Amino acid sequence: MNQEVKSGKILSPSTPWTERSVPGINVPDEQQTLKATFTEPTIECPECHALVTRTAMSFNAYVCPQCDEHLKMKARDRLNWFFDQAEQELGQEYLAKDPLHFVDSKPYPERMKDAQEKTGETEALIVMQGQIKGLSMIACAFEFDFMGGSMGTVVGDRFVQAAEKAIATKQPLICFAASGGARMQEGMLSLMQMARTSAAIQKMKDAHVPYIVVLTHPVYGGVTASLAMLGDVHIAEPKAMIGFAGKRVIEQTVREKLEEPFQRAEFLLDHGVVDQIVHRHALRDTVYRIVAKLMNLP
Ligand SMILES: [Zn+2]
Repeated sequence: MNQEVKSGKILSPSTPWTERSVPGINVPDEQQTLKATFTEPTIECPECHALVTRTAMSFNAYVCPQCDEHLKMKARDRLNWFFDQAEQELGQEYLAKDPLHFVDSKPYPERMKDAQEKTGETEALIVMQGQIKGLSMIACAFEFDFMGGSMGTVVGDRFVQAAEKAIATKQPLICFAASGGARMQEGMLSLMQMARTSAAIQKMKDAHVPYIVVLTHPVYGGVTASLAMLGDVHIAEPKAMIGFAGKRVIEQTVREKLEEPFQRAEFLLDHGVVDQIVHRHALRDTVYRIVAKLMNLP
């Protein structure tokens, strides 16, 4: 390319058209030096430390292309990725409350506001309705970055509403669990959600509506003790940590050293807690197949 084209000048009509500058395209002038800079944000794989661009990771459903490690996935990304077409979000009318006016190192509403700013979500559970291969489903996912995906009254409200809608419309409910447990800032009211969600799941069972749990890294506490262990089928992602109390607490209680892979999905599969470990890339098809089987679809 000659110097005149580089400088963006309009060339004489005798110049071959291949060398004329295209109107509307900003040709950098000679003073500006072009520097090759790596501007796209990258994510470091916690397992093999490979640096992968955010775009590449998102296209790969946040599975490391180098070592197959399943990275944490945001709840909204997960639901958008799970459905062929997400149609509507449910439960947005339930918003954060501070029933106990709880204050620890800072007031609960302040903590809630920080979590909302950090995640861009209003609460730790997101519910969406959508389709996979033409089959309508309701799916909910816990946002772990929102106060550790803890279950407070709003999470309970949203889950129960999803279950009731699943029963009314005879659509299966899928739950992607990732939680540290009950939300201590809501005390007893948070613990009550365990009973509430369990009752809603029982109603689903009575109505023969499939309820599938996908255990993602990590699931602990009150969520394990309720809605995450009451599915018709329990699927886990590879190497997910799943338990009620943490490993250290159990070690101190039983006074025994607990070695890897204690509380990993693979360990729980061997001990009958989990039905299947499924690679994230095969998850959509697996869930669809199970649901189709449970609903006697062709
Ligand atoms: Zn990796």
